[in-house]
Amino acid sequence: MAINSPKTDCDIVLIGAGVMSATLGVFLKELDPTLRVEVYERLDKVAAESSDAWNNAGTGHSGLCELNYTPENADGSIDISKALKIVESFEVSKQFWSYLFQHGYMGSPRDFINSIAHMSFVWGDKDVGYLRRRHDAMVKNHLFRGMEYAADHAQLRDWIPLVMTGRDKSQPVAATYMPIGTDVNFGTLTRALFNHLKGRHDIDINMQHEVHHLHREKDGTWRVGVTDLATGHSKTIHTGFVFIGAGGGSLPLLEKSHIQEGKGFGGFPVSGEWLICHNKDVIEQHHAKVYGKAAVGSPPMSVPHLDTRIIDGEKALLFGPYAGFSTRFLKQGSLMDLPLSIHLDNIVSMLGAGIHNIPLTKYLIDQLRQSPEDRFKALQEYFPEAKFEDWTLATAGQRVQVIKHDQKEGGVLEFGTEVVHSADGSIAALLGASPGASTSVSIMLELIEKCFADRVKTSQWQAKLKEMIPSYGQSLAHDEALAIATRKRTHEILGLTLI
Ligand SMILES: Cc1cc2nc3c(=O)[nH]c(=O)nc-3n(C[C@H](O)[C@H](O)[C@H](O)COP(=O)(O)OP(=O)(O)OC[C@H]3O[C@@H](n4cnc5c(N)ncnc54)[C@H](O)[C@@H]3O)c2cc1C
Repeated sequence: MAINSPKTDCDIVLIGAGVMSATLGVFLKELDPTLRVEVYERLDKVAAESSDAWNNAGTGHSGLCELNYTPENADGSIDISKALKIVESFEVSKQFWSYLFQHGYMGSPRDFINSIAHMSFVWGDKDVGYLRRRHDAMVKNHLFRGMEYAADHAQLRDWIPLVMTGRDKSQPVAATYMPIGTDVNFGTLTRALFNHLKGRHDIDINMQHEVHHLHREKDGTWRVGVTDLATGHSKTIHTGFVFIGAGGGSLPLLEKSHIQEGKGFGGFPVSGEWLICHNKDVIEQHHAKVYGKAAVGSPPMSVPHLDTRIIDGEKALLFGPYAGFSTRFLKQGSLMDLPLSIHLDNIVSMLGAGIHNIPLTKYLIDQLRQSPEDRFKALQEYFPEAKFEDWTLATAGQRVQVIKHDQKEGGVLEFGTEVVHSADGSIAALLGASPGASTSVSIMLELIEKCFADRVKTSQWQAKLKEMIPSYGQSLAHDEALAIATRKRTHEILGLTLI
């Protein structure tokens, strides 16, 4: 890769000013302060798409409460491997943020991360049995230790009065309670990272600049075509490395790069909506993120949750997300995004994924048909005494789920995130949505290991990585002493609840 080459205009181009580009930019400038970095963002604000606090759930997806990360096996046992991977990734994120705070790169941790208990809540004998078995399986691992389980109405009323008041006392219910959960404002975090980057040498952040073209030169460098949306003026930037961190806009740019590794990918957009509470008395009575079970056929990211948020210093209460469908790939995108993304090399994947996801299609149609009263009924399952007039509907962010080529099925719809990179490591794109921002640090580390493989091996980069992420290269899921010490350290630095 042509890094630090006098022939190029810059070493690194980051497309998009969301949490992913921010994280990668900070990592790279820490690893090599001489890198010349240019950021291009089509909007006039940083973090205005998925990374904005009102556009995502800010859960700090840490595998503690999301039931879709702990599926049930055919024999009734619970597979916790996905939750374990996510909780470990979130511990890595907290280490990176601790490093940034300790080095004065950002203000108070209270601006972006706050302790909020993470809970799972279910009703009905079948789901109560599932939750009990899930709890038994999880607490065997040290990273989930301290998670409490209760099926007793009185205990649950103590934890979540809004959820329990007015509920039929004969209804079998159960919940798990994990006090070390967090709420993260990824918008504030992203803005803090870009503010820090702005103050460094050799970094240029260009707002209202849309990338429309990518061309690989014979020597492996890239020419990036950009239009200044304020003036209409276009230019080309010559660079050694490109990161496509354009959120929903990543797929069309990956297609434009024409790299072999990007062939066969498609995208399926799923939009979201929240009910937002504006009654302060009600907001004050709830202090937890309460996640339920997703309806049959629904995508995992539409798991309903009654969610305490801390946004710009204010406590808020949200319920949702309700899934929706739009052909836009970005909240501020074009209705032509989906049709224009379909090409000869991904049509088989798209059709295959469509044929094998009829329940999802049916679920989305049902969601689109919902009246305000239907949406309110869904809220009342979690908050029986909710009042219609206390809530208003707002649009959340847009997610583009990855469709991947599959030999057997033609194409499969994936709900995770995917780093796609060229064999020479000169370009990488991030596709998909969940878990996203919470695991942004691990995702960007993986990208650095793949695209900067030679430099990662050097003693300087190894030492710096260890300084930023002291557990780097070791397993927090398997090393109990390391995991406990790491969590204690980061929670003390970030001022978070510790048990
Ligand atoms: C409803 C919802 C709930 C979610 N909940 C959670 C959660 O609880 N926990 C979690 O970890 N994650 C969650 N996520 C996912 C998380 O929000 C994303 O993974 C994360 O914000 C993605 O960051 P990003 O930087 O890749 O993309 P974005 O924040 O979307 O940034 C991409 C940027 O690229 C810009 N751009 C696009 N195309 C171009 C172009 N051609 N040229 C220049 N700029 C361009 C866009 O304008 C945008 O600013 C949720 C997402 C949604 C929608």
